[in-house]
Amino acid sequence: MFLRRALAPLLAVTLACERAPAPRGESVTIDLAHLFRVSDAGPRTTAVSLAAPEDPHQLLWGWSRPVTAPDGQPAVLIEGAQAALTFRAGSDPGRMFLFVDRLLEPPAGPYRPPEGVRVHVNGAFVGRLAPHRDHLEIALPATALKPGRNLLSFRLIKRPREDPARPTLRYFYRQIRLRSGAPPGVEPRLADAETLVLPAGSSASFFLRSPRDARLRATVARGSGRLRVRTEADGTAARTAFERSLDAGGVLDVPLVFEAEAIARVDVAVTDGEIALRRPRIEGTRPLAATPPPAPVPPARPNVLLYVIDTLRADALDWQDGPRRVSPNLARFADEAIVFEGAVAQSSWTRPSVASLLSGLHPPSHGVLSITDRLGPHVPLLPEILRDAGYDTAAFVTNANVSPPFGLQRGFATFRYLSENPATDSVYVPARILDDEVLAWLATPREQPFFLWVHASDPHAPYRPSERYAAAFVPDGAGTALDREHPLRNLRRRSRVPSDTELAELRGLYRADVAELDAELGRFFAALDSRGLLDTTIVVVVADHGEEFYDHGGFEHGNTLYQELLHVPFLVRLPHAAGARSRVLVQHVDLVPTLLTLLGLPVPAELPGRPLLGPDGRVAGAEGAEAFSTTWFARTALSSFVVPPWKVILPMRRDRPDELYDLDDDPGERRNLAAAHPVLVGYARQRMAELEAAGEHVPRGGPAPLDAETRERLRRLGYVIE
Ligand SMILES: [Zn+2]
Repeated sequence: MFLRRALAPLLAVTLACERAPAPRGESVTIDLAHLFRVSDAGPRTTAVSLAAPEDPHQLLWGWSRPVTAPDGQPAVLIEGAQAALTFRAGSDPGRMFLFVDRLLEPPAGPYRPPEGVRVHVNGAFVGRLAPHRDHLEIALPATALKPGRNLLSFRLIKRPREDPARPTLRYFYRQIRLRSGAPPGVEPRLADAETLVLPAGSSASFFLRSPRDARLRATVARGSGRLRVRTEADGTAARTAFERSLDAGGVLDVPLVFEAEAIARVDVAVTDGEIALRRPRIEGTRPLAATPPPAPVPPARPNVLLYVIDTLRADALDWQDGPRRVSPNLARFADEAIVFEGAVAQSSWTRPSVASLLSGLHPPSHGVLSITDRLGPHVPLLPEILRDAGYDTAAFVTNANVSPPFGLQRGFATFRYLSENPATDSVYVPARILDDEVLAWLATPREQPFFLWVHASDPHAPYRPSERYAAAFVPDGAGTALDREHPLRNLRRRSRVPSDTELAELRGLYRADVAELDAELGRFFAALDSRGLLDTTIVVVVADHGEEFYDHGGFEHGNTLYQELLHVPFLVRLPHAAGARSRVLVQHVDLVPTLLTLLGLPVPAELPGRPLLGPDGRVAGAEGAEAFSTTWFARTALSSFVVPPWKVILPMRRDRPDELYDLDDDPGERRNLAAAHPVLVGYARQRMAELEAAGEHVPRGGPAPLDAETRERLRRLGYVIE
């Protein structure tokens, strides 16, 4: 034993001699105990206290704030028609058992029977919670469970109608417990925040974008056994990098020989004995980012105009070389702006995307995920930061998704929500009227600079452009196959594949909507220019998401995360600066750091985005850029991850495959390459788990208090609140 202990440091020295001379760069340490917590093999969830969850982000939506149950103990209610939470099932879930602890205290008099509840795991039905029972057990079959994170939802079968004579009873939910059907003891676990314990027969996988000269390092805190390290970079064969017996006090120091920046997997397994690794980590270096010359803080504080165009897919615009029929005004604007051609929306529907634009946080961090979610009061917003910096702030918006019940108005001294009217052709208030309100607001003299958010929704369905634009953009021969009052109505029926003629007509109507908006933007920008405001205002034009026209078998938005929904226009026009084009990957969360940098204001450290421009307006580098999007719209739960040229789409549902596309070779996302690139898919899954964990400290806003009018408004716009 003593001999082995003495030899261990020697082993480390020997391996250390194989190291190449350290290149210049900043040292990088990847903490594997931390990564283990979010990996598929990470700790299984055994219990969720619903009134005081250890991780508040486990409760996704539909749960009330904590209330006191009839027995005096804290509990929560299901608000609305369904509630959901996530739990972790380990790397090999097998069968699990779910225990639901809830309480119902019937009154002495007559009452209506309480709700029945259907339980779903990852979208698959697994059982019912029968009425009149407080403690229930349901078996979760292995076929419904996935490694790592799983989605558990409770859907009310039928809410009884209110009857004053017979009160409707509700259950007070207290705790969910989960028990694994797998034999205990063969899974890796964390002994403390920095010690990973690997029993015999267990292994843990870690994914990384490799730094230069990567080495796996740790010390054996206790135990002894045989440890094996296998490595696999995407596109190469797996190899054994280390296999030997280790004792307590031993040092692990294994060169990983990945190419710098390779996306790779490292598997650590113990084949006999049990080993506790202290501070398992991967160390290496990354080249130092070129230090930009110090730029002076902008002397004058420019105004900021954020113009969000709802439902505008990037390829609807014709601002590349060639004819400019649809969007000549935006094309002219683009000539003077920095055009980010590789921009990705944070979600494929309005509310989470806009919350990301205004907060600089990813949807899992700001917590606006489901149709009922509002932004929590503790998420700092850009208008608050700018207001505190002395800006006058105002918003002019038309879309119920960003209306006051959802909490996005915080920080705006003036907030005008122009509500939709389904009786009008456009449904949404046309940009012309929004812009007129903006111009009137701008006419008021003010001492301080302003921050303005305009949210126009002209391209949003139902696509009812004026006759003149429809005639110009619906292709000859497309005719009028569609009901022009409700062009989508027949096409939405799932059983029917739309004809090419119908699709051409629908796209034509959408392009006509976009062209009509573009004409209005021409008028609006000219009005700003005539008042000299383009010389003093940073203007950002961005879309919250795109739109699909049966590209992947659906319509409108929110239901998938393909590029027709995620690839959006993102333009920044600086006063007195030349236009430029950039193809780097950017995303909505980059907006807040970009604007703060341009204004010479500090960027909060917790923001995940990066400034796209330096204080001098030069386009910043984008080494290692990755983009993350998510949609929990309706019954879909999808995440996507872009690490150029790759894009990974991960469904929560067990019956849908993971997808991976090469966006350079296959921009239409037709050839799913996931099976050939397990390392890339694993890396995407782990990175998304890390991003989700990063926002765990931000309290959620919970369901918005929706009045009947807002519910009805959302319903008419196609957002069904169950
Ligand atoms: Zn939208």
